[in-house]
Formats: sequence, C-alpha cells, structure tokens
Amino acid sequence: YQTLAEADPEVAKIIEDETWRQFSGLELIASEASRPASNLTSLAVMEANGSMLTNKYSEGLPGARYYGGNEHIDILENLCRERALKAFNLDPKVWGVNVQPYSGSTANFAAFTALINPQDRIMGLGLPDGGHLTHGYYTAKKKITASSIYFQSFPYRVTPGTGLIDYEQLTTNAGLYKPRLIVCGASAYPRDWDYQRLRKIADTNGSYLLSDMAHISGLVAAGEQNSPFEYCDVVTTTTHKTLRGPRAGLIFFRKDKESDMEQRVNQAVFPACQGGPHNNTIAGIAVALKQAADPAFKAYAKQVIANARTIAKVLSSHEYKLQTDGTDNHLVLWDLRPLGLTGSKIEKICDECHITVNKNAVSGDTSAQVPGGVRVGLAALTSRSMKEAEMETVAAFLHRAVQIALTAQKEAGDKLLKNFVAAFSNKDNESAKLLEQ
Ligand code: PLP
Repeated sequence: YQTLAEADPEVAKIIEDETWRQFSGLELIASEASRPASNLTSLAVMEANGSMLTNKYSEGLPGARYYGGNEHIDILENLCRERALKAFNLDPKVWGVNVQPYSGSTANFAAFTALINPQDRIMGLGLPDGGHLTHGYYTAKKKITASSIYFQSFPYRVTPGTGLIDYEQLTTNAGLYKPRLIVCGASAYPRDWDYQRLRKIADTNGSYLLSDMAHISGLVAAGEQNSPFEYCDVVTTTTHKTLRGPRAGLIFFRKDKESDMEQRVNQAVFPACQGGPHNNTIAGIAVALKQAADPAFKAYAKQVIANARTIAKVLSSHEYKLQTDGTDNHLVLWDLRPLGLTGSKIEKICDECHITVNKNAVSGDTSAQVPGGVRVGLAALTSRSMKEAEMETVAAFLHRAVQIALTAQKEAGDKLLKNFVAAFSNKDNESAKLLEQ
C-alpha cells in the first residue's frame, strides 16, 4: 500500500496547495458551502466520498440491479432516499426521489427528459437575469447548452431597475409561447420565489412546473426559504451548495400514478442519461442529509442569511448598487456598472488578495465573459463560524478592493490595473505603492 504522496507526489502537492488555498483565503463563491475541517460534517462527508464504495458498479435501483454484490449498496441508496425525503419534510407516499444524478446539470437534463419531448418548449429565467445555463440558455450566435439544443427555449426576465422576477411579463409570454415546462430557480437571484403564482401560470398554459432549488436547497431544508414542493411537479437540486454535501444532484418527483412519473424519472436518469451510480457520492449525500436534519443546520442556515444581509447592508452604506437592493438568501449580487468597473476586474483583484468571488452577469448585461457584476455568497464563510461582526470586516475588504480598482482606473486606466495584479505581491513595485494610497 502506498499513500497518495508516495504514489503520486505531483497530484498530492496540488491537493495540498488547494487545501491551503481554501484554508487561507476567504471563499465567497455562492455555490460553495463547505470548508474542510471547519466542522466535522464536511470531514464526515469527505470520508464517505473517498471510501471503498467508489469500487462498486450498481446500475439500476435498489432491489433491481444489473450487477451482483449490491446488498450493502441497496441499503445505502434506500437510506439516502429516506433521508432526502425527510430533510424536506416530504411524505414518501406522495414524493419519491432519485439520488443518482452525477451533478446538477445532469439532474436537470434527466428531469427534462422525463417530463417533455425533444424540441418541446421551455421557459427558464435568462442567464443574465440570474438563471442557470441548463435552463435553456443560448447566445445570439449559438445554442450552446444541451437544454437549448434539444428543446426550444424562451427565457423570462427580471424587471430592469428592481431586479425582481417580472411575473407579469412571464404570464403574458407564457400565454403566447405555451411552454410544456416552466423552470424556476436560479444561480444568482437574491430573493425568494412566488411558487403559487408560478403554479397558476403553469396551470393556465398546461405546463409542468420544475423548481431547480440548487442554490437554496439547504435554506429550504432549514425552513428559511419558501418550499417549492407544495406547488411544483418536479424539484431538482445540487447537493454541494447550501446543502453542504459532495458534488452531485437529486431529482424529487410526485408519485403520480397516472403519469407514471416515478418510472419516467428513474429511467431518464438510467439508462437515458447516465450509467452506474457513484455510490461513494451517494454515501456522502446521505451523511450531508443527516446533518441537514439536525437543529444545528437550521441555526447555520439562519446565520447564512444574516451574514448575507450584513454584507448587503455595509455595501449599501457605501452607496454601491446591489441587484434588488439587498437579499433574502445566501448571496448578494453586486452591480459594478455604475462605477465603470467590470465584474472580471474585481474578481481578479480579489483573487490577488485571496478573496474568492465570481464575476456574474447582472440584469441587462450582454456578455457572460465580461459581465458587470460580482456574486458574493456567504455559505462557506458561515461554515467557518463567522457571524455579523466578521462580515463587517469582509465587506470592508470588498470595499477596499473596489477602491483600489477605481484608483487604478483613474490614475492610469486598465494598464495600471493589469500591473497591479502582477505587482500585488511585490511591495517595492511602484504600482503596488500607488495602490496602497
Ligand atoms: N442549477 C443551478 C441553479 C446551478 O446554480 C448550478 C450550478 O451552479 C447547476 C444547476 C449545475 O450544477 P452542476 O455544476 O453540479 O452541474
């Protein structure tokens, strides 16, 4: 037996460097929540995820596999399914869940495959408005996602100015477009969803309603956001964002006998979209779901929102523009366009300071590569037990980063900004000195 460091020092070193990056920096990526060793949950999840379970093939479902030797895997997958339903307070007679999707993207594609036919019409929130690629995104030049290649897609939007979902326009457009499927849920939307209203729009037009609660599923499990389960036909989620599990996806479906949704979803996952389940990941999900049912998780979710609100409050006090002027969940969407800055610049500057944010489109943006905003998520820092007081400091760092960018831009335009990035670690460099002013 050789350890990783003995067998492959190159990869071992990369993992060590990345671990150190995660420990030493401030992680503000809205889709990341866990910090290794910041709490026992994450270590337990990683232990399950790195276990012997990775060796086993188990195509099929518990009790109906295409391989022998699955007696323990069957128990594991059933346990994971039970915990998934319990975490969201779902009656197993009404709801079922498939825990095999490898990721949020494959969960969404499998769910679409189960619900509708190729080239059917879908409506999801547009990417520049906070929606996800897998909700039907295409560019002016190209259909770049499977969800727009295999389905016809017409996005709905947020209202320019307020940044809130334009339910009225969605009502009108859905009436004209008659989508087979309406997708709600987002990657960068700081407010909660009106599922009742969406259900009404779906019913009027004979559409299925699917919620992709990937970003907020941990907050939903904790009862801190509206639950999509009351109104939606199918609910998908990733397991690695606010739910704090390993990287994977889940698909919840109503066990409607007439439409045979259970079989449609299960067959869409395997064999339509995937092969053998990743049993090590399913074990990690099971562990994370057990933790999500714990009262400590509810306290965590509450704190995530309190922390996001504190960041929003401090940034607003400096007169920065935030999409929707604040937040109800784990993220803040910061619109830098009024300052003449791009999200890419702030992401780069923050990277140099070991603060990790991501550039993000804000309503009205035309480029996803050079968007006008950054997305600031508080799930990971909250995993490190940070509270409102620490958030004041983090917001001050962010303020400073923007001031640095503005100073650089004013003094010498983009050239100096580029120099800053190269010079930050060298205190003797003229650009760095200037930026310290
Ligand atoms: N759905 C939403 C709303 C997301 O934000 C994401 C990823 O960020 C996904 C789906 C895709 O998840 P994955 O990266 O696991 O494929």
